Parts: sequence; structure tokens; C-alpha cells
Amino acid sequence: MKKQKIAIFGGGPSALITAYFLGDNFNVTIYEKENNIGQKLLVAGKGGFNLTNSLTGINLTKKYIPENFLKESILNFDSTKLREWLDNIGVTTFVGTSGRVFSIKKLKPINVLNKIKTSLVKKNVEIFTNQKFVYFNEDFKPIVRYNNRAREVIADFYIFALGGASWSITGSDGKWTKAFREIGIESIPFQPSNCGININWSENIKSFPIGKPLKNIQISCGNNTASGEAVITEYGLEGNVVYSLIPQIRLKLKDDSFCQVKIDLKPNNTEKQLLEKLNDSVVPKNYKKIFNLNNTQIALIKSLTQKDDYINPKKFVQILKSLRVQVNSLRPIEEAISTVGGIAINELNSHFSLKKFPNIFTIGEMVDWDAPTGGFLLQGCFSMGYWAAASIISKKG
Ligand SMILES: Cc1cc2nc3c(=O)[nH]c(=O)nc-3n(C[C@H](O)[C@H](O)[C@H](O)COP(=O)(O)OP(=O)(O)OC[C@H]3O[C@@H](n4cnc5c(N)ncnc54)[C@H](O)[C@@H]3O)c2cc1C
Repeated sequence: MKKQKIAIFGGGPSALITAYFLGDNFNVTIYEKENNIGQKLLVAGKGGFNLTNSLTGINLTKKYIPENFLKESILNFDSTKLREWLDNIGVTTFVGTSGRVFSIKKLKPINVLNKIKTSLVKKNVEIFTNQKFVYFNEDFKPIVRYNNRAREVIADFYIFALGGASWSITGSDGKWTKAFREIGIESIPFQPSNCGININWSENIKSFPIGKPLKNIQISCGNNTASGEAVITEYGLEGNVVYSLIPQIRLKLKDDSFCQVKIDLKPNNTEKQLLEKLNDSVVPKNYKKIFNLNNTQIALIKSLTQKDDYINPKKFVQILKSLRVQVNSLRPIEEAISTVGGIAINELNSHFSLKKFPNIFTIGEMVDWDAPTGGFLLQGCFSMGYWAAASIISKKG
């Protein structure tokens, strides 16, 4: 019997895993607009390259916003299943610090990408590069442009995995929203996620601790608190502790056009414990020793505190536990590790096909969901790809 055809647009992780799971039963073709597939995966690999996280099952689903949207896909293909799949294609992983899952040292990101490519070649998946999806024609068929020539793509199922709108150098430019709008599919405007924050530092901090880490801190925004590390930059703060609070900071900036976060520089000590370290001989020049602070912490506190408060040891303790910093804005979308926005989730069925066009699926970062760094982004993309493939397999004619 003739195999049904699958056309996949975009060559990122979401697309590649879908192609893998459909490869045995369908004729699968990937259309990628850049010279190479998986460019963002390679960029992701320049930092930590967390392929997933050791959280599994229901605990994993809690990392996603909105939680229920990805729940089924993640419960059916969680980090255990993802690691098994990676292992099957020759990518051995291990759990590193804070539960992040990495490929073993000798497998660099390019090796991981090549292992995925090899697994697709074995399944006869065709990969066309420099082929850009441009719009849908009046029959709602995707049109692809190659060498200035446009052609209609005919398939039984279409999967779009066009990515978000940051790091456009990797090909993920978010410019596809117009084509979907033209066929009546709503997109939410893209916004940065997992990004740094802009803070009006005083001149004295600009001249001192730029690039210095603030280790083992806690930051709170409203009722949400995150622990980890941040780095002081010329424009504000970067780092995992900041990234995990971006959804709340984004919301505050939108609703109140004002956002204050509180930094706890001594999360392992209560205020009472710190106050117990005080005696009559304590003066500001002992602070470093008494509270075990480094120059960066002292410089940060000084730059954000009135002199009268700084020289008052009791006040200083309060500040150590709750240093208030005003966030002006998020960093530009282009710099963000991920974006929110894209295809509105109310346009989708539970397996990520469009309600209006059930043979068209949209998966990965091009859909409006959010997750923190730590492997959750790639996990979300892989789970969606698997789940879309599972649905198509179940419909196989
Ligand atoms: C600096 C950085 C570090 C990161 N680190 C991590 C990490 O450690 N762990 C983690 O989990 N996640 C990480 N991420 C996020 C992760 O890489 C992305 O969430 C993931 O790549 C999204 O996968 P995707 O398949 O949905 O889209 P993408 O990987 O963005 O792929 C989309 C593809 O579609 C193509 N495309 C776009 N438009 C068209 C078109 N019109 N026609 C045809 N093709 C098109 C693009 O060229 C691209 O190849 C990081 C991201 C960045 C930027």
C-alpha cells in the first residue's frame, strides 16, 4: 500500500522528533528555510545544553505554563521516555547539577544533531534546506519558496514547527504569523521569556561589579520566589534565578507598568539569625566579615541603599534579606533564550492539530506556552513532536 505523505516545515528539535516517529510508516519530508537544520539546537549547546530535566511525570508538567496545555503530551513522553529515545539513537545522557540532563562529554551538540540526522536518514526522511514556507494558497495548501520559485506542497498531514522569535540568526524569526493569520488562525504577539531584566543601576555600580555573579541568592516577585545565581550586567541582571521569574515580572510590568523584585542575599539565614550576629561593636566596615559578604554584594547594597540605612546595622540586616530593586523592562526579544506568544492555544486540539484544519499541526516554540530553562524548553518541544506523531499514527489510513 502506498504510504501517506507528511510535510514538516521547520527543522528544529520539534520537527526532527516528529519526523523520527513518523518515519517508519509515512513518507516524510522536512522543509527548512535555512542552509542547515537544528541551528537553534546548536546555539542552545553553547551554554549548558540541557536536553531535558530529571523531573518526570506530573512533577515535570508543573513546570509548564499553562500547565494543562502540555500535560498529556508530557505524561506520554516525559524525560524518562526522552532519555530512552536519545539513548536509542546513540545519545547517552546523565543527570547533572540541579537535575539538568546533559549529553555525555564526548557528545557535543553537533554530534547530538548528527545522531538525530543519521536516525532520520535510516528512516528515509527527506530533508530539504533553503525551502521556505511562505503562505497558504486558496486551497489552504502550504506554498514553499525555493530559488525564487514557489510551489504547492501536497501531503496528507502538515506539521509546522517554525520556532519562536528570538535569535533570528538561527532561522527562528517568527515571521510566519502573517500566513496563519490569513487563514484565520490567531497568533499572540511574541514576547521575550527566559531573558535578562533592565535595571537603572546607579553610576557607582556600573563602574564596579559588572560581570560578577551573585551566587546562592533568592529573588521574589510578588508571591513567587526563585533561588539560584544571577550575574550583574551593565543593563541589569541575567541568570537562571531571574529567568524563572520572567512570567511574573512580565505580568507585573504589563498590569502595573512597575515591577519591584526583592533580593535575599542570605537565603540560608533567617533575619533573626543575622540579627544575633550583631553586638555593640559592629560598624559598617565589619559587615563583610560578620555576614560573610563579598565585594560584589557590598557594592550592590551600597548602590541601592541610603547612607543612613546602610550605617544602621539592624536596617542593614533587613536590607540583606530584602534588597529592593526596580525592574524597568525585559531585555529585547532577540536576546531571549525563548519566547512566549505564537499560535494561540485555543486554536488547537489536544494533539496540537488546528481545530479549523485538523490535518495541520503546530508544535514547539511557535505555540504560545512557556517554561523555565533547565531542559524544560527542549523537553516541551520533544513531547509535542512525539504527541503530534502519535495522533497521526492513530489516524493512519
Ligand atoms: C541561547 C539559547 C540557549 C538555549 N538553551 C537551551 C537549553 O539548554 N535547554 C533547553 O531545553 N532549551 C534551550 N534553548 C531553547 C531551545 O533551543 C528552543 O526552545 C528549541 O530549539 C525550540 O525548538 P523548535 O523546534 O520549536 O524551534 P527552533 O529550534 O527554533 O526551530 C525552528 C526552525 O524553523 C525554521 N523556520 C522558521 N521559519 C520557517 C519558514 N517560514 N519555513 C521553513 N522553515 C522555517 C527555522 O529556520 C528553524 O530551523 C535555548 C535557546 C537559546 C536561544
